[in-house]
Amino acid sequence: MDRIIGIDLGTTFSAVAYMSDEGAQLIPNALGDALTPSVVGIDADGRILVGRSAKELQVTQPDRSIGVFKRYMGTDWKIELGQHSFTPEKLSSLVLKSLKQDAEAHFGEPVQSAVITVPAYFNEHQRKATIRAGEIAGLKVQRILNEPTAAAIAYGWHSADEEKIIVVLDLGGGTFDVSVVELFEGTLEVRASSGETFLGGEDFTSTLAARVLEQHGMVFEQTETRHPQLISRLRQECEQAKRRLSKQEETIIRVPNEKGELSENSRASTVTREQFQKWTNHILNRIEMPIRRALGDAKVKLGDIDELILVGGATRMPIVIERATELFGRSPKSRLNPDEVVALGAAVQAGLFARDKSVEDLVVTDVSPFTLGIATSRELAGELQTNFFMPIINRNTPIPTSRVDRVSTLHANQTSIDVKIYQGEGRKIEDNLFLGEFKASGIPRGAAGQEVDIRFTYDLNGVLEVEATIVATKKRITHVITRHAKGLSASEVTQAVAEMAALKTHPRDEAVNRFLIRRAERLYQELPLTERRILDNMIVGLEEALELRDPAAIESNRTALESFLNHFDTEDHNEETYGDD
Ligand code: ADP
Ligand code: MG
Repeated sequence: MDRIIGIDLGTTFSAVAYMSDEGAQLIPNALGDALTPSVVGIDADGRILVGRSAKELQVTQPDRSIGVFKRYMGTDWKIELGQHSFTPEKLSSLVLKSLKQDAEAHFGEPVQSAVITVPAYFNEHQRKATIRAGEIAGLKVQRILNEPTAAAIAYGWHSADEEKIIVVLDLGGGTFDVSVVELFEGTLEVRASSGETFLGGEDFTSTLAARVLEQHGMVFEQTETRHPQLISRLRQECEQAKRRLSKQEETIIRVPNEKGELSENSRASTVTREQFQKWTNHILNRIEMPIRRALGDAKVKLGDIDELILVGGATRMPIVIERATELFGRSPKSRLNPDEVVALGAAVQAGLFARDKSVEDLVVTDVSPFTLGIATSRELAGELQTNFFMPIINRNTPIPTSRVDRVSTLHANQTSIDVKIYQGEGRKIEDNLFLGEFKASGIPRGAAGQEVDIRFTYDLNGVLEVEATIVATKKRITHVITRHAKGLSASEVTQAVAEMAALKTHPRDEAVNRFLIRRAERLYQELPLTERRILDNMIVGLEEALELRDPAAIESNRTALESFLNHFDTEDHNEETYGDD
């Protein structure tokens, strides 16, 4: 059996893990970090950067780098970087490829298969786009796994014989998910999932940036259009400040000038944790609805819950922990790092596929997070309205599942009906997501009211099959909506693979040097003239050594630059560890 890796393809950070004899383990990237920022950039030489280098580039040259593109998965959104146009799938494929290479460097052999996680609340199109991204990166996607399910697996896989109900709250960079999970007799069963795709840590950062700007008489949106560098630098300042506020009561945020530069004389605001809490309270309030919905769907009362698990980097914020504690009347569990647990769970699921001996006896069952159904007509006050949604598989039905419902013809001598398939919770189809349609024809002529059975079958791999049976004749018409169906012709994938492969990248063993150069370029903007000159010489020195491929020169230039940076650059990019409970 091939090795299968587990990948958490996050909005802001991604991670890759595998199942070892000691359990699930993260694989560090070329810089030695467990988390790789989901940021893609293209440098002046037209080479692709992924991760921390791209994040540094984003600060100095916001038009050459992009993050948070997971929010656009499954849409027609595109962006120009350098000379190239990128879809969210292509950008994601570059992140996946970089993680795949980290895994290959770790194992010393090629890796071809992966379990990739998505927010539970991702719809069919977003899931399809994720599979496509995997394929473009050269990965066979064994399973798309819901992130909170992955987190529950990471916490539950070695205590599967216990009986308990677990609630997982996952607040990441851009999405919020909540799942109610039941663990019993070696089975991990998701009872209900709910969430929001536009709620995450990045919203806290944006609000912080907007309020600080306001204190200096500026409007966020306007400033963003006029001075993008100011905003990208300020966002980075606010990101750091937000993290500091997780540990301390107050912090100072400096506002860069129009070129995005910071100095000792920069304008600044002091922000207290209390102030930050007031500013972001309206964001935090939005976690309550999905929680209520998930508990309701799972028919679980607060008193039934045995464990509360917090997942996602944004749950490191004390205000989130406090709110969760308040809502559930208990303190959350935090044995594992909240930003690593999803990748670890994906690795356990990968281990289940590969029949890894350490996870042999865990059965995982999930639910369909949305309602699936068809368009239907209703007569209202003598008028026919054709835009009503008729649910067939209700949200939070355990999958795999198969449900059937009967419809009938409206007119005499009607020989066919159009089956239009939708996903969502709206009463009307326009509020739901269109998935596909087909015609069920061959209905015998006759009076109105000829019956047709519509069967929906939804399997663990997210393939929806819809079948219409004409009751009178037993004729069957089948329509398969696979996640591969939309836009994934084999030739298009091949083309995207070729396009992405043609992009120039730096050799992996240069990653550390490239990152240092990017970090140096950002620091450069902040330094007084004399130090700038020194730093400029050091950057040129390392760039030349890299150009000449001279190992000794690379090493000495790198060490010099690194100690210079460590002396002047106060920014702490290291991930702190999470306290044990
Ligand atoms: P995703 O999986 O969506 O990429 P993560 O789970 O990695 O997200 O969480 C990323 C989010 O967590 C970011 O918005 C980041 O700012 C936030 N975050 C990480 N660490 C902290 C911290 N110590 N305090 C506050 N927010 C944090
Ligand atoms: Mg995440």
